[in-house]
Amino acid sequence: MREVFDVLVIGAGPGGTQAAVSAAHQMRHVLLLDASKVSRRRGRAYWSKTVKIEDAPVFTGITGVQFAKALRAWTEGQPERSIERGGEERMAGIRRADGFAMDLERLDNGTFELTYATEPLSRDGQVGATTTALGRTVVVASGFEDGWPDIETDDSAARMYRKYQLVYRYAGNSRGWHLCIRCDGHLHVDEHLAIVGVGDYIFEVVQGAQDFTDRITVLTNGRPHGMSPRVLEALRERGADLEDGRIEAHIGQGLNLLGFRMADGRELFFDGFFVDEGLKANDEFLHRFDVAHADDGLLRCSPDHEVLDSSGEPIPGMWAAGDIVAGERNLIASAFASGQDAGLEASDSLRRWAMPTGCGD
Ligand SMILES: Cc1cc2nc3c(=O)[nH]c(=O)nc-3n(C[C@H](O)[C@H](O)[C@H](O)COP(=O)(O)OP(=O)(O)OC[C@H]3O[C@@H](n4cnc5c(N)ncnc54)[C@H](O)[C@@H]3O)c2cc1C
Repeated sequence: MREVFDVLVIGAGPGGTQAAVSAAHQMRHVLLLDASKVSRRRGRAYWSKTVKIEDAPVFTGITGVQFAKALRAWTEGQPERSIERGGEERMAGIRRADGFAMDLERLDNGTFELTYATEPLSRDGQVGATTTALGRTVVVASGFEDGWPDIETDDSAARMYRKYQLVYRYAGNSRGWHLCIRCDGHLHVDEHLAIVGVGDYIFEVVQGAQDFTDRITVLTNGRPHGMSPRVLEALRERGADLEDGRIEAHIGQGLNLLGFRMADGRELFFDGFFVDEGLKANDEFLHRFDVAHADDGLLRCSPDHEVLDSSGEPIPGMWAAGDIVAGERNLIASAFASGQDAGLEASDSLRRWAMPTGCGD
């Protein structure tokens, strides 16, 4: 007989950790898959290298690395253990496994089988050892990867972290690349911000920046601005500059980013650097399921965080939490909230009996 977990949680950021803790608190046996040791995908908060996270509940004033450690320590409060319930012995609590989800399949008996890599991928992306785990329910909490600016990139590199190695040197530092105006705007009050990106959605960053500063330059990095006439007009009305030259190189000092050398030889200096080049959901392992994606590529879910299929129906036994859910705020407190909801919904779906039909509505 193979072991079957009550809940498989894929991703150990705030969304997945909360889902695991909430389900374990209801005496469920949970496998929490943590990719951080076998992958450079360590979660979005992890990129806050020297920038302190100020607005997450309880964990105030810590960097991304400390935050990841605190989340890990939190799960230790729900250790995996054998319990006796109603005269039966069974398992409860959280087992953490280091692994990167590769594939999820529904078996004939309705159980999910998760295949995950237990070793880091090789430099050219080859998968080494893998193993499998079975679960009655799944919570997908694997977040998304941000797009990065194409500046001094290594286009021959097969893997994203190699391609953007120089960009990552400055990412997540107080004076470096920021990805979230709500998270890091407060570091640059009344300072001059560079905002890199194209299309109407870059105006959302400009709009968010107004809470902190009016000194804004949007840089398209050599591409057409892609903004609709009304958005372009709004940008001009707000007094933001538009710079459409190509950025050739970073001008930096240690881990601090100071400005850009443009392809035409000019040097432009700024105090803060924000980028929005889109995102990519971390859901490759769901390729066997007909999951529905919103326009931004994130998972469409019901208000109860059930993952929906392309006809709008919930996929039985599958919930999602955190940044990967379309329409949520991409912030830590929201990830905790949806993680709690997904973990409890998955847990409740395993109850043996329910309220009689028509009562308690
Ligand atoms: C630089 C930066 C600074 C930020 N600062 C703040 C802030 O100050 N305040 C705030 O509220 N929010 C902040 N955010 C946003 C916040 O980090 C996210 O909203 C939050 O981390 C989302 O939580 P999550 O659990 O959904 O996803 P993540 O934290 O991204 O976690 C996803 C997890 O899934 C794992 N994973 C991915 N793929 C797989 C796979 N195939 N198999 C297994 N595991 C996988 C990853 O390793 C990771 O552990 C910041 C984001 C960034 C990028």
